[in-house]
Amino acid sequence: MAISSYNQVRVSASALTHNYTLLQNLAGKGVRVLAMVKADAYGHGMIEAAKVFAAAGCRDFGVAEIGEGIRLRSVMEKGNIFIFLGFRPEESRLFFDHKLIPVIYDLESATALSREALKQNQVISVHLKVDCGMGRLGILPDEVESFVHTLQELPGVVLGGILSHFPRADEYNSMHSVEQFRRFEEVAAKAGDKISLVRHIANSGGVLYFPDTCCDMVRTGISLYGYYPDGQTGRKREKGEKLQPAMSFVSRVLQVKSVPAGTGVSYGHTYVTDRESRLAVLPVGYEDGLSRSLSNRGEVLIHGQRAPIRGRICMNLCIVDISAIEGVVPGDEVVILGCQGDDCISGDEIAGWMDSISYEVLCLFGNINERKYTA
Ligand SMILES: *Cc1c(COP(=O)(O)O)cnc(C)c1O
Repeated sequence: MAISSYNQVRVSASALTHNYTLLQNLAGKGVRVLAMVKADAYGHGMIEAAKVFAAAGCRDFGVAEIGEGIRLRSVMEKGNIFIFLGFRPEESRLFFDHKLIPVIYDLESATALSREALKQNQVISVHLKVDCGMGRLGILPDEVESFVHTLQELPGVVLGGILSHFPRADEYNSMHSVEQFRRFEEVAAKAGDKISLVRHIANSGGVLYFPDTCCDMVRTGISLYGYYPDGQTGRKREKGEKLQPAMSFVSRVLQVKSVPAGTGVSYGHTYVTDRESRLAVLPVGYEDGLSRSLSNRGEVLIHGQRAPIRGRICMNLCIVDISAIEGVVPGDEVVILGCQGDDCISGDEIAGWMDSISYEVLCLFGNINERKYTA
C-alpha cells in the first residue's frame, strides 16, 4: 500500500488551461506566450504544468537553470526551452545535446558557445538580456551595439532574440514601465537592424497592465497559475474574465480537544486561551511550507468556516481554534489554501498575513508537498 501524507497540494489542470488561453487572448494572436515553469512551475510541478500548457498550445518554456531544462526536455521533444540564468562555459555542450536556448548577458558565454558550435558543426541561436531599468541581470543599454557587433563576428552563434525585464509592471498606472519599454524599443532597434529578432520584455504585469509591451513574445509566470502580480487589488480591478487560482492545499484534523481558560498553546505559550476553548491539532507545520510567520496570524477552513491559528506553528504541527465550529472530528478535511463550502483562502490572503507575495506562498506549499493533478 502506498502511504500518502496527510497533506496534499492539488492542482487544477483546467484552471491552468483557462489561464493560458486567457493570457494568449490578451497578448493577441501572433504573440508567443512563453510559460515560465521555473521553481517547479511556481510549485505546480514543472513537468505536469508544462504538459498542460503544451496541450493548450504553448510552444515556449522558461526555466532558471540548465538542469531544469534538461529535465523538461526529457519529456518534451518539441518546444523551445529557454535557460534564463546562464551557465558555466564547460556546460556549453548541454545546449546542443538537449536543444536548449541560452539567454546570455556576457561575452564569455557567447565565446564558449561559439567554440562548442564549431566543434559540433552546428549553429546556435541565443537571446541577449539587456538591463533597461531592472537593475539586475543583463548588459546595459549602451553596451548593446558593441556587444552585438562582437557577437556577429563569432562563428556558430546567431542572435535570435533580445529581452529585458520589468521591475514595476505590477504597478497598474506606473509611468516607469512605459519609460522602460521606450528604452527597450530603442535598444532592440539598434541590435536588430539587419536581423529579425524575437523581442520580449513583458511578464504577467506587462501582459495584464501594459498590453502595448507584448512585442513578439511574453513571459508569463504568476498569471498562468491564477494570480495577479499586484494581488487582490489586481483581481478586484479586473472587469472581464478572471484568472483562476490553480493550486489548493489540504490537510486533515489530527486531534480535537477541549481545554480550560488559561491554557498555554504550543512552544513559548505565545497564545493562552482566554476562555474554555476547543482546539484542533493539524499535521501541518513550517516543514510543509506553512511559514512560522503565520503563528497567531493565519487562518484555515474547516467545515467551510474559518479557524484561526493559535500559538506558534511547529515543524510538523499547528493548532487552530475550532470553538465556533460545530462537530469537528479527527480526519475532517482542512483547507489551508483554496475553497471549502462558500469560503476561500487565496494565496494573496496568506501572503498578506506573511507580509509576502502569492509567488512565495505557491512555491512554499507546492515544492514540498505531495502533489496531485485534478481535472
Ligand atoms: C519569473 C520571470 C518572469 C515571469 O514573471 P511573472 O511576474 O511571474 O509573470 C518573466 N521573466 C523573467 C526573466 C523571469 O525570471
